[in-house]
Amino acid sequence: MVGVGNPPWLTGAVRGDTSRTAEREVREPGGVGMVEQEAARYVEALAEAVRGHELAQRRAWWDLATGEGVEEAARVAEASALAIDDLYGRPEEAARVRGWMEELEAGSLLRRQLERVAREQARCAGPGELRREIVREEVALQARYHGFRGRDGSGEELSGPAIEAVFEGERDVARRREAWEASMQVGDAVAEAVRRLAGLRNELARAQGHRDGFAMGLAHQGLDEGWLMGLLGRIERDTREPYRVRKARLDGRLADRFGVAEDELGVWAGADPFFQRSPGLEDVGEALESWLAGRDPADLATRFLDGLGMNLRPVMASSDLEPRAGKSQHAFCVHLDRSGDVRILSNNRRGRTWAMTMLHEGGHAVYERYLDPGLPWLLREPAHTLVTEAVAMWLGRQAMDPEFLVEFAGAPADEVTPLAAALRREQAFEMLLFARWVLVMVHFERALYADPQAGDLAETWYALKQRYQLVEVPPDRAGREDWAAKIHLALAPVYYPNYLLGELLASQLRAVLLEESGERTLSDNLAAGELLIARVFRPGARLPWERLVEEATGEALEPRHFLREFAGRVSP
Ligand SMILES: [Zn+2]
Repeated sequence: MVGVGNPPWLTGAVRGDTSRTAEREVREPGGVGMVEQEAARYVEALAEAVRGHELAQRRAWWDLATGEGVEEAARVAEASALAIDDLYGRPEEAARVRGWMEELEAGSLLRRQLERVAREQARCAGPGELRREIVREEVALQARYHGFRGRDGSGEELSGPAIEAVFEGERDVARRREAWEASMQVGDAVAEAVRRLAGLRNELARAQGHRDGFAMGLAHQGLDEGWLMGLLGRIERDTREPYRVRKARLDGRLADRFGVAEDELGVWAGADPFFQRSPGLEDVGEALESWLAGRDPADLATRFLDGLGMNLRPVMASSDLEPRAGKSQHAFCVHLDRSGDVRILSNNRRGRTWAMTMLHEGGHAVYERYLDPGLPWLLREPAHTLVTEAVAMWLGRQAMDPEFLVEFAGAPADEVTPLAAALRREQAFEMLLFARWVLVMVHFERALYADPQAGDLAETWYALKQRYQLVEVPPDRAGREDWAAKIHLALAPVYYPNYLLGELLASQLRAVLLEESGERTLSDNLAAGELLIARVFRPGARLPWERLVEEATGEALEPRHFLREFAGRVSP
């Protein structure tokens, strides 16, 4: 999964020298032929103009993340973002594009490019001053989140890594509670600003003809709200009971681990402040760490991708993978120029987390590398954020796959085999837990935009956490704005659905492509690799994501594969 330091653009895009080959079927003079010529000239000129700014912007992002000439990079990043928005934010051009789209047949390369342009134009519509104000608020909030340090009971500052260390290893429940409270303090400090920002997004949404910021966020990503909420309802129903059973077992284990009664555990007993990762339902954590302890994560990902017939070496050669002072703490993949300059930034250490991270980012990277270089520039990017996330998530899951562990990490088969069932159960619990956490986030975000000034958002937050995650409401938190401690709500608006949709698609790709390849796993599965390249990577954004999923897997995006894989059940 990506973090907040890792927004959608990072896995976006490519560029190239062949955009001039944009399809131009010149028929007879006048009529559709003229429209095509005019539209094709417009698309070509626009792509040419955007391309330069996008390259400058992505180079600046890379420099910012690697700590090179940060001040200049920040200036260039902002200037190029504004220049791109300016190119797309011209109402008279948006009207012309809509006109051409009505004239041109759906399905052609030219029409598809116009659709992509129209989507960007819709994003950039509305009063320019309001959009700039939103950007300024976001930048200011980002600085406040990153600069904030919580304090423990004695007034001592606790850094992010110090809090993480407590969540990872501390057995004293009182000390865990102190760290958790410190991690929530930023909420009260920023809540008012986040509410104001949500109000500004609502204003922009209404200017663009949307109900509110939530509806706008989904519309800009081409996600239908009714469909999404229906899908989440089904996920909720079908994961409720399996989650309840496993959560009860987990509580028992945690009570043993911390030496307290179950009703004394508190929300701070989890592996992180929001209870979004598994604190270990099964005893596999130590074994996984020991198997992966001696392995270089970059080498693992490279060899694994070799087995799929995908070459990650050119990416590795230009990547920045070692931890270093002054560089971004996150991991991400970026395609700088849409013509093959794909890089990964990471902070690799030995162990499970970074092995999974490199497999995940390696997935984004090969998607970008294997885009058809003959596609017009505007279509030379993944079909959708959720599709590239699905690929990355499927690959990331391998870090817990018994066959991967033996074959690529060199773990002794006689140690892995007896733990295979427990590994599967642990991974299934992680998926259920994550799905339930996404339900909290999406429902809360919807409530936030419905009324950013609502007096009961703090209560709504814990009501949703209680309902979907089955966690107790912590004592003495009345009126505390803990929800605002979750940085995504401020800085990655309406992004969370992509995480769950990506996991659903990962399971669907797995079910269909493994079956077709005739193998049980992805390890050394050249046939599955070929299918991924041909059906998912090469087409880029040539098709709307819904069509791409149908053509790649034979059906629309469907939760059934995910539910079967991890919840062991499917409703009729
Ligand atoms: Zn990702």
